[in-house]
Amino acid sequence: MAILRFNAIKESLNRKPVPVDESIRRSELFGKNVFNKEAMRQYLTSDSFDSIMDAIENGSKIDRDLADHISTGMKEWAISKGATHYTHWFQPLTGSTAEKHDAFFETTSDGRSIEKFGGGQLVQQEPDASSLPNGGIRNTFEARGYTAWDPTSPAFVWGTTLCIPTIFVAYTGEALDYKTPLLKSISALDKAATDVVKYFDKKESKVIATLGWEQEYFLVDTALAASRPDLMMSGRTLLGHAPAKGQQLDDHYFGSIPKRVLDFMRELEKECMLLGIPVKTRHNEVAPNQFELAPIFEEANLAVDHNSLIMDVMDKVAERHYFKVLFHEKPFKDVNGSGKHNNWSLATSSGSNLLSPGKTPMRNLRFLTFFVNTIKAVYENEELLRATIASASNDHRLGANEAPPAIISVFIGSQLTKVLDELEKVTDGKLSPQEKTDLKLNVVGKIPEILLDNTDRNRTSPFAFTGNKFELRAVGSTANCADPMTVLNAIVAKQLKEFKVEVDALVKDKKMKKDDAIFNVLREYIKASKSVRFEGDGYGEAWEKEAKRRGLSNYRTTPEALQAKISKKAIDLFTELNIMNEVEVKARFDIEIEDYSKHIQIEGRLLGDIARNHVIPTAIKYQNVLIKNVKGLKDIYGDQFKSMATEQLAIIERISTHIEKINAGINNMIEARKKANHTDDVTKRAHLYCDEVKPYFEDIRYHCDKLELLVDDEIWPLTKYRELLFTK
Ligand code: ADP
Ligand code: MG
Repeated sequence: MAILRFNAIKESLNRKPVPVDESIRRSELFGKNVFNKEAMRQYLTSDSFDSIMDAIENGSKIDRDLADHISTGMKEWAISKGATHYTHWFQPLTGSTAEKHDAFFETTSDGRSIEKFGGGQLVQQEPDASSLPNGGIRNTFEARGYTAWDPTSPAFVWGTTLCIPTIFVAYTGEALDYKTPLLKSISALDKAATDVVKYFDKKESKVIATLGWEQEYFLVDTALAASRPDLMMSGRTLLGHAPAKGQQLDDHYFGSIPKRVLDFMRELEKECMLLGIPVKTRHNEVAPNQFELAPIFEEANLAVDHNSLIMDVMDKVAERHYFKVLFHEKPFKDVNGSGKHNNWSLATSSGSNLLSPGKTPMRNLRFLTFFVNTIKAVYENEELLRATIASASNDHRLGANEAPPAIISVFIGSQLTKVLDELEKVTDGKLSPQEKTDLKLNVVGKIPEILLDNTDRNRTSPFAFTGNKFELRAVGSTANCADPMTVLNAIVAKQLKEFKVEVDALVKDKKMKKDDAIFNVLREYIKASKSVRFEGDGYGEAWEKEAKRRGLSNYRTTPEALQAKISKKAIDLFTELNIMNEVEVKARFDIEIEDYSKHIQIEGRLLGDIARNHVIPTAIKYQNVLIKNVKGLKDIYGDQFKSMATEQLAIIERISTHIEKINAGINNMIEARKKANHTDDVTKRAHLYCDEVKPYFEDIRYHCDKLELLVDDEIWPLTKYRELLFTK
């Protein structure tokens, strides 16, 4: 009897919902465990408070003496929230968050003890991070980097630890984390966008990128998950036959949320409120046991921190409700996968959304400027954007006949398509007063404040304009949003810089009026970037053909897609904007491409182990039962047995064939792995893993899944899809 599987099922069926106390209003809980403005006012001197605010708003440096005051205030506040430890909280290139906790507690020379947290400890730390990925930047003998406080993201207390968001940099100066380049891209974008926004309003002095992410995930009962070594070790099921009922009935999407899940969500949201994460939306997703969570958008750096934090919080809260959260992009074959939509926009310091049309023609010309520049930026850099969403796990989604395709295109809706078509016809050179009036009244002025057809938007587009923001839908559910956001900020920053140069040149050299110059440059951009715009069905084969004709890239696998990250164009982009230098760009590429190989290697080993240690022995056990049965029939009925044992004999043979195929597949896969491991070239190795190791997965899985259908359910050791997906 498959003890673990049946015990797990029994355990999961006996679960009782874990009660959640929601007696305190959310608005009262919000930000309670965050060292926000309110807490700072209470715990800091006005000098310290002003210096932090100046650092947040203008990027100024915080004086060392003041840092001592700030750390003391922060410590007192944290202790009042029950904190005993502090940590520099950062996002190394592993994809998760890192922390090393130190107690506030210290002893004094006379044997007493005190709680201490100095300015030095707040501002800078040296984690022994020699085993975090660095892409060869730091030699291990000097494996030292430091973390440095990022005052733009507020400190918070999570559990009993004061967490201080930090960047992580090598002693030689190169960034070793996601946050550093993100912050630099935000500041590059601020500079470029502020220069452009001044065409429309001289008073504007700052532009921020905003991000609202939507996080999809699956929940599986902890006991059931624990009975699946593949889920536990690789985050996805490497085998398992599709259940008789899948998502065909679409009865899960937006359906009522199961009670146990709802309790998990309620507690999660409560924790989020305390941590100042403004979660707002929760609902079921397309697949059974799949859900989504989304906050109100925030400034991009904070939003990225909040997404990283929430993934950690989700894991911990889920444990209390006996769930395991699956963040993997494709935990179950033939079942809808998970993504992380990144809604992105630009806002001025006065809170005005630059990607939102308005009431006046001037406001709409500003909107069109940022709108068209973003499309042009995506057109120019579609390969780089595609590269930022590439990972071994996201390969299962992209282009696999499921949202979204591996081709980057932009959807804008029919209303805006019409507007851009009109703008394409603008006269070359100076505009007549008549034309200008006409444009302002009938084209630009006609853009409605709310773009109706964008409410019914094209779900198959990887980069869609959704009324007042762009939505990058191709990001993987396990990904850190920082990388795609860094690239999006960077390409738009570069594009806006170029735009400014071109407009200024027309004004200066061609003596054009500013508006005329803007119309002229936009016209050229609209024409140039037309091929990246696509309004049709992104899933079909027709689009692949059409995209190829248009010259758009279509990289189906990570090793192919990643190359764009180290193209000359990408390196020039990052260095020009001072976001990363060449060493940093290449180091990141090395980390990612090696990460790809490691992922496939681990999955290959796991699949081999599970097939050999679980599947084959079980199949043999069942085959022996059949053999005994056939022998018995022969004993009793003599020669007549054959007609009575036809089916059994056929199954015995089929089992043998499948076992043989599985063994051959594993042997060949091991050989292919050896070959891949032999090469020192990281790119070549990734391609070998992709093209020569990975194809065996399907093959081995096919025969294992066939055995799952043949073998007696009573002895099958691996929890089945129907149990993983439909047990509440
Ligand atoms: P959906 O139908 O995809 O859920 P919503 O309009 O509800 O669309 O928004 C989805 C996400 O977009 C939310 O996380 C929201 O915070 C975010 N969002 C809305 N406006 C902006 C903006 N200006 N900048 C960035 N994100 C935004
Ligand atoms: Mg969305």
